[in-house]
Amino acid sequence: MTPPPSEETLVVTGVPVAPGLAVGQAVIHEEDDVDVPILEITADDVGAELRRLSAALRAVKKQLAEIERGIEAEVGARDARIFGVQGLLLEDPEFRKSMRARIRRQLVNAEVAVRDEVRQWVERLAHVAAETDRDPAADLRDIGRQLLRHLAGKPRKDLQDEVGDGVERVILVCEEFLPSDAAQIDRKRLAGIVTASGGVASHAAILARNLGIPAVTSVDVGNLPGHGRLWIVDGNSGQVIVNPSRRDVKEAERRSAEYGRFRARLVAAAEGYARTADDVAIELLLNVEDFDALASNALDGLQGIGLYRTEFLFLNRPFFPTEEEQYRHYCDVLAAVGEREVTFRTIDVGGDKPLPYLSTPHEPNPVLGWRGIRLSLEWPDMFYTQIRALLRASAHGRMRVLLPMVSNVDEVRRVREIVTEVQGDLAKEGVAFDEQLPLGAMIEVPAAAMATRTIARHCDFLSVGTNDLSQYALAVDRNNARVADLYQPLHPGLIAILRTVLSEAAETDTPVCLCGELAGEPEATMLLLGLGLRSFSMSAFHVPVVKRLIRSVTLDDARRAAHAVLELGSTSEIRAELRRRALEHAPEFASLFGGPK
Ligand code: PEP
Ligand code: MG
Repeated sequence: MTPPPSEETLVVTGVPVAPGLAVGQAVIHEEDDVDVPILEITADDVGAELRRLSAALRAVKKQLAEIERGIEAEVGARDARIFGVQGLLLEDPEFRKSMRARIRRQLVNAEVAVRDEVRQWVERLAHVAAETDRDPAADLRDIGRQLLRHLAGKPRKDLQDEVGDGVERVILVCEEFLPSDAAQIDRKRLAGIVTASGGVASHAAILARNLGIPAVTSVDVGNLPGHGRLWIVDGNSGQVIVNPSRRDVKEAERRSAEYGRFRARLVAAAEGYARTADDVAIELLLNVEDFDALASNALDGLQGIGLYRTEFLFLNRPFFPTEEEQYRHYCDVLAAVGEREVTFRTIDVGGDKPLPYLSTPHEPNPVLGWRGIRLSLEWPDMFYTQIRALLRASAHGRMRVLLPMVSNVDEVRRVREIVTEVQGDLAKEGVAFDEQLPLGAMIEVPAAAMATRTIARHCDFLSVGTNDLSQYALAVDRNNARVADLYQPLHPGLIAILRTVLSEAAETDTPVCLCGELAGEPEATMLLLGLGLRSFSMSAFHVPVVKRLIRSVTLDDARRAAHAVLELGSTSEIRAELRRRALEHAPEFASLFGGPK
């Protein structure tokens, strides 16, 4: 990465994944590839190679435990848990057994066994990361690198040394920000992060958001002048400025301070439930992937969990969870939320979210293929087990069951038959369950959205998944960086679809929630309220901002905003109009809407 000689100002735009602004000196961190010596060994050497592997596994485990303790002391258990997850992967009996088997059967050295095993697992897990809160493939790569370093007797490259002592505010620039990188760097000096890979759901993004460090991804970092140069990272707009002018720096510093004050005020003011300025109650719910990682106060001021992605119970493990394991997990969640309601979505895997232990046939268009409820209905054992576990848990709290990727009413009918069958079995066994368990469908397939009225007749409630709805309606893969700028949930066509969904749900008196990422976007709050939405489900990070806006507007303000937007023809006009109206009610949002998105 040799920087061109120029000192000219360069502005590039990536994907903002953690808000805030930072000015600092760039430190280009290139991950040093550890050499893998390829040796053929004899049966006599097997014992020694197995011992080398065991020693490396022990050393990395110890190192991970130290990192976990350090991070926990600094920022709390939630972030530290990432290292706990790495420790679990390292402990996975299947992973260890397969590496040992490679040494024994293929007569290869420990390095080759580690490299090949990690590679195989990474391939299996590669697609999981794209849509999830976890990135097991990145964890595995990280673990693999650490194991190889130990086997090579090479201490890890110290990020802190690369930063140097004199630099007070560091902008870390790297291909991929790995969890172990976060552990090594002095976070008081880490001002911002810019990476080439890793989306909103990557570990880099999660850590950065929780640590309050602005971050931008999808930037072609290899082609930018780097080391030691001054960079500005705008985690609100996604803009990165290399070699900024003095005026750019001043402006960024001003906006950074303003954003810090804004966020602190919002969080402090987020207590209590959400009501509009004209005192209409609005339901705010949480999207949850990883219940164990949820902060104990995460549900304060919220009515419950609007989307519990149960697939996370099925990922990162070698086999399906048993009925008993699932039942206990669902009961734990219900016990933790108390009186609040939880909407458990049945397993949403397949297509581009494969389960490592479920071999599905290769599909030319997996996202248009065998996923969500389609897969569950053709995998009756797995689905029956999940429904049984959910029904048993329903005796212990308030819950609803939500079906992913519904495209027609036959799917809902078929699920109802399965639910009735399971209820009959449980009744015969004398097991308690909620006889009125509400069953709902995700509205995330455009044709289902346009047939909301019909689908609603078969459902007790609906939940709009704008993440998939946008990708299908716009024909834009939600995980493809190349077409990321075309992924526009505020496209006029999508707004028209949302309007249909919300009005048909209202006509049929069907409760409807919106649980896609759009629910957490402040630009969308007034529009959605104006179109009639009264229930929003989002990740914890977005709650304070959305709550603030809801409290500042009346339903009439929101209706007027929706009406104005329906007249506009482009996403950029729509976004600008919605920002302008949001700013009228919450002027401090200026620091949030820093620049173009
Ligand atoms: C959605 O598609 O909007 C949604 C909430 O589901 P997921 O992101 O899990 O696909
Ligand atoms: Mg979806």
